Amino acid sequence: MPPVFRFAPSPNGFLHLGHAYSALLNFDRARGTGGRLLLRIEDIDATRCRPEYEAAIYEDLAWLGIAWETPVRRQSEHLSDYRAALERLSELGLVYPAFESRAEIARLVTAREADGPWPRDPDGAPLYPGDAKSLSSGERTRLIASGAPYALRLDMAAACRRVDGLSWNELGEGPDGENGTVPARPEAWGDVILARKETPTSYHLSVVVDDALQGVSEIVRGQDLFHATAVHRLLQVLLVLPEPAYRHHALIRDEEGRKLSKSSRATGLRELRAAGATPASVRRLVGLG
Ligand code: GLU
Repeated sequence: MPPVFRFAPSPNGFLHLGHAYSALLNFDRARGTGGRLLLRIEDIDATRCRPEYEAAIYEDLAWLGIAWETPVRRQSEHLSDYRAALERLSELGLVYPAFESRAEIARLVTAREADGPWPRDPDGAPLYPGDAKSLSSGERTRLIASGAPYALRLDMAAACRRVDGLSWNELGEGPDGENGTVPARPEAWGDVILARKETPTSYHLSVVVDDALQGVSEIVRGQDLFHATAVHRLLQVLLVLPEPAYRHHALIRDEEGRKLSKSSRATGLRELRAAGATPASVRRLVGLG
């Protein structure tokens, strides 16, 4: 079976040099291995994703000389797949609703920090400090019936009790040079959000479901997602999905060493193209000349 690669941008802004690097690495690896390249549009966040950004993704990638298989999978069209996975995790007793708003969570963290630092996840966000896990089922039913918004969280401690010796095969490199068999520590993320009242999925859940459904065998993506791989491996094991290999790559940074953002105009592919860049000069800029 030929290896399967994917580039999976979110249409919440225009692509920049960092995306070009990731897309070209995937494309080159697919070419070099006789593999397949898929493009997936990660558009579950309806408040931030826009059709014009999606159209620009196709245009910019084609301009770069990248070819991908069609049809393109758009996550917003597959919510029932994510709902089914969420249902399986619920049946395992690993999902609970948490009703605190973002502001309430921030207040809870501040209160806990009076007694010393509150733990943070690998991205620097405080772990979920609430105690919704211990609400009685009657209380949950009452709150849901009242129309209160909620997030569905993974009971991380219970989930971790079901797995043993979790790791992944890193073909690239983590931010601290990790490679080979990397031990996965999903507990560092706390009770992550798997879905919300109005959206039956989250980044973690949909990426894991889609990579499995699409038969992705090697995931080439930026080092900013290196630590999230621990959560992805946990979900793969819980949902009995195949294990892909991972190849995390260094991030392209701006002159001040910051990670590129979708709003930094200087490195946007559209701006570069308007200023006379060619696909070959973009390759050189990202070190793939
Ligand atoms: N959609 C994610 C992003 O644009 C990438 C997901 C992934 O490669 O796992 O950052």
